[in-house]
Order: sequence, then structure tokens, then C-alpha cells
Amino acid sequence: MRRTAGGVSWLVAIGLAAVLPAVAASPMPVVSGVPYNADSGSVAVQCGRLIDGVAAQAQGLATVVIRSGRVDSVQPGAVAPTGMTVLDLKLYTCLPGLIDMHTHLTDSGHETSDLSVYYKRTQAEQGAIARDSARATLLAGFTGARDVGTYIAWVDRDLRDAINQGNAVGPRMQIAGYYLTVPAGGGDLVIPGHAESEIPPQVRLGVARGPEQFRQKAEQAVAGGADLLKLIASGAVLAFGGVPGEREMMPEEIKAVVDVAHAHGIKVAAHAHGAQSIKDAILAGADTIEHASLIDDEDIRLAQEHGTALSMDVYNGDWIDTVGREEKWPEEFLRKNVETTEAQRQGFTRAHAAGVDIVYGTDAAVYPHGLNARQFPIMVQRGMTPMEAIQSATSLAARHMGWADRIGSLQPGRFGDLIAVKGDPLEDITRLQDVVVVIKGGLAFKLPAE
Ligand SMILES: [Zn+2]
Repeated sequence: MRRTAGGVSWLVAIGLAAVLPAVAASPMPVVSGVPYNADSGSVAVQCGRLIDGVAAQAQGLATVVIRSGRVDSVQPGAVAPTGMTVLDLKLYTCLPGLIDMHTHLTDSGHETSDLSVYYKRTQAEQGAIARDSARATLLAGFTGARDVGTYIAWVDRDLRDAINQGNAVGPRMQIAGYYLTVPAGGGDLVIPGHAESEIPPQVRLGVARGPEQFRQKAEQAVAGGADLLKLIASGAVLAFGGVPGEREMMPEEIKAVVDVAHAHGIKVAAHAHGAQSIKDAILAGADTIEHASLIDDEDIRLAQEHGTALSMDVYNGDWIDTVGREEKWPEEFLRKNVETTEAQRQGFTRAHAAGVDIVYGTDAAVYPHGLNARQFPIMVQRGMTPMEAIQSATSLAARHMGWADRIGSLQPGRFGDLIAVKGDPLEDITRLQDVVVVIKGGLAFKLPAE
């Protein structure tokens, strides 16, 4: 049906005149380039089925009215407010835009076999990669994301701001600016065979030792525009020399970072695989525990008691063990992945059964951006209902990022961030891997082909 512009409008005019005698709603344009006027869209979306992100059940036919970028109302039935563009999704299930609580949008999903690429890149070069990642993430239905660490400092901030200004296409972002990590820790890009003098300063902004240094680095991150702070409490899987089960930061160092963040009203995401580091981070007041691979029953009890959420990336172990092997990622990474993947999935099941909040975090960049929804089926296999898995990526995620009043549900006042899939994701959670409609701030970024 692609014709010249004149031909299309003539055909559309004839077609609409035949069925709509009164005011014809104009068709919804798709944002295809930049710049665009972010969060400015108005549209009435008629949904065959609606999962609003909060309610325990889906609703039948309902209309989500978005005005000037925000949800104005959600009404039963197919409503067509006068003069408004109407989007007919009666054959689809609508949901709030999804949120990935653990991404690295600035990093490519294809470079773990040689991380030294980050030594040579400029911020501008990395920024171009980041834009591709952000677009892929949004078009997969993730309209919100936390970026929990970038090797080249502040590329995440530039991306966030460009998206907010309508100069890039991507999710609403919270950014960390850089990793807070000990020397040669999981966030410090020390690579065997490379002298430390090769590592440019912009890759080591958050490297610190001792509470006072961590406090300073944390303050600098906040001053630079970080929306949250990311610290590396334990060893990492995809970093050289680290042992996931062992401490890297000491409790008083974690506490120093948490105190700075909370004094500024922002949250702390603590990378912690090992049981001791998880404990340290919860007791220091971290808001989310990232990975939590080797979580023990005491950690689970503490997380429950302190209201700490877990962000467990339970899919990517499969990717690392297959594609990572094919791409000849470092043997050490592959081994540590095997040591943590199944343990993490069993911990997920136990933590969920105990009632701990688990938010949707994938560690995308370990695998290509845009495949973020591959984690849903694992979460369901390991104990969540489909609705629980959806809420982990919508209202629950929004609450734990401090944005419950902005995103994560289709309720009046929230941003008009809505996605749609064919079929019923409550019956088949893999439907979320094929998002056919993406609306953000009332603007369409993706619509069905027909
Ligand atoms: Zn990560």
C-alpha cells in the first residue's frame, strides 16, 4: 500500500468518506527520524484486551486516551473522543511500556570477546553505538530503562538527554554515569595483556578505595547528573580476575555510596553475586541488588525485611554459554557463567516464593539490545505467573526506580507509554518477544504493518 503521498491521501479520503460521515480522525504518523517533539502525542487507543500494569486481571475491550503525552483516562469499550486520532488495536493486547532495570545501552551487545575496544573509542563513537542500542530497545517495547554502568563515562547521560529532547529514539532512562568500583574490580576495565597505562581516564572515573574516596566519586556522579548510583560490591562474571562469590567493596565503602545517594534522593543499584556481598549491600541500604546469583536464605530474609528488590538477569546465561562460546569469549568468563547461571535461577525461585520483590533486569549488552524480552519465559518457568513477570517489568520496576508516578502503569497522569502484542501474553508469555506497537509519550514509534 505504499504509494506517493498524494495518491495515499486521495485513497484514504475516499475510504474514510465511505464509512465516516462526520469528522474523520487523521491516521497516526510514526516517528521515524529526529528531531521530534517528545511526549507531545495525543491519541485514543482502542485495545481488545488491556493489562494495565497494576490490576491482577486483564480487562476486555478498553480505550486508553492519551493527551499531550500523558494518560488522560482509561475507559471501558471502544471510545472515540471527538477530534482525536483513534488507533484501532481491537485485535491486540495492550500493556504499559516495559521497563528493563538493568541495561548498558551505551555498550554494544557484540564486544565481550575483546573489551579493549573501549580503550580506543571516543565518546562520540560510543554515542553512535548507544543510539542504535536505544532504538532497538524501544522498538522491542521497552519504553523505560535503567542504564547501570557505562565503560566510557557519561555517554549514558548524553543519550538520556538526547532522547528526552527528541534528538534520539529510545526509552526513558535513568543513568549512573560510571561504575563505582575498587581498582581492578568488576567495573574497572583492567585486561590481562594490556598495561594499565593504556586505560584512558574516562574509563576509570569511578575507581576508588576506602569510604572517603567512594564518597567523593559518588558526589561527583550526582553532580554530573546521575539518576542513580551503581556500585560493584562483589566480583563479576564478565570481568577479569574477579570472583563472583567474593567481596570487592567493604561494607563501609558501600555505606558511603548509599549515604550520598540517599542524601540526594536517588537510589543505589548494587552489583552483588555472592551471599556475603548481597548481605553487605542490603544492610548498607542499597535499593536493588543486581544479579544476586549466589543468594542464600539469610539474604532472602534480609531482602524481605528491608524491602530491597532483586534484579536477577536469569536469561543471559544461556546466551553466554552458546553464543559466547562460539564467539570465543574469555574462558574465565564462560566458566564463571556456568558457575552462576543455574544457581541464580534456583535463587530466583526461592526468593520469589519467599515474597521478595524481583524486578525485570536483563543485563542487555551481554546480549544484543532489543532481545530484552527473552527473559520473560525463564521467569515464568522458574516460578512467576505471567502477570507477575509482566508487573516485574512495569509497575514493580517503576516503584523500585522511584518513578511510580511517571511510568509502569496505564493510569491517568502517567506518561502515555503503551505497547501492544498479538494474542494473550498471559496465555503465552513469549508474545512479548514480538511487540508490534510501541507508543511513547503518545507518539507512535512502531505500528502494525497493515
Ligand atoms: Zn550489568
